[in-house]
Amino acid sequence: MANPTAEPLSPVSRTALSVAMVRAFESSRPAPLFNDPYAAVFVAAAGLSMPAGGPPTGGFAQRLVAHGILRTRFYDDRLLAAGVSQVVLLAAGLDARAYRLPWPPGTRLFEVDLAPVLDFKQGVLDGLSAVPACDRTALRADLVDPDWPDRLVAAGFDPAQPTAWLAEGLLVYLEPAEAAGLLDAVGALSAPGSRLLLEQGRDVSTTPREPGLTEMTDLWRGGLGPGTADWLDAHGWTTEFTALEELAAACGRPLPHDPTGKPAGFLEARRTEGPTP
Ligand code: SAM
Repeated sequence: MANPTAEPLSPVSRTALSVAMVRAFESSRPAPLFNDPYAAVFVAAAGLSMPAGGPPTGGFAQRLVAHGILRTRFYDDRLLAAGVSQVVLLAAGLDARAYRLPWPPGTRLFEVDLAPVLDFKQGVLDGLSAVPACDRTALRADLVDPDWPDRLVAAGFDPAQPTAWLAEGLLVYLEPAEAAGLLDAVGALSAPGSRLLLEQGRDVSTTPREPGLTEMTDLWRGGLGPGTADWLDAHGWTTEFTALEELAAACGRPLPHDPTGKPAGFLEARRTEGPTP
């Protein structure tokens, strides 16, 4: 039975609630960059309250909030433009795209995350009698465990079809070898025409330690760091980088100064070859 409380969520899964808070905030603003009506419900169901006075207005925290908002819109647009009918949200967390985006008819969407977060999510969605806008399958799996690709295929994923993969807010929580293993597995499941959307990694050793953020930033392991695009380009993908600043300007959103001075942004990788064995 689905679990309606967020009590058993591990620290890394609780980061999905932080993302939901950011989406709830943006959805409550005038002229939001997206509308996620489920985000505030997840936050409330977890027993959390939105910060009085809104999100932080300074420092690294403000930049992280802006990053979360802008990347949500960026990935929304790119997923809908991908022109494929198979979508996989890796580490889906409390991502409600299956419910809130206007998917083309015939879209099959898979969400993969750890069981407690997907159980919590399902409990909330069932309570709302929410109906997905596509054919949605939730797969409870650890993406560091080598059996997840077989389990995804057993759940109905078709490796012969091009896929739009999203790994939003995931790789930073993985060690470099874990991130490489995960992306190897994604490559092995990716038919020509597949896309992979994710953040360009950063050197997490320079992350500012700000009060209120360390619960999350202390979990960062860095993934493939600034070498993410180069790694993908060397493994059968062709990557395109979109800078956070460029996106912020295009969306008319001011971006606070980055104290690390390192370029942040997002990658869309395209697969022209077949899967790498
Ligand atoms: N992608 C979602 C979004 O943007 O709304 C959630 C992002 S949240 C920052 C990170 C997510 O990664 C959590 O839901 C957590 O459970 C998931 N995660 C971390 N490590 C994982 C693993 N080894 N296997 C599956 N999911 C994992």
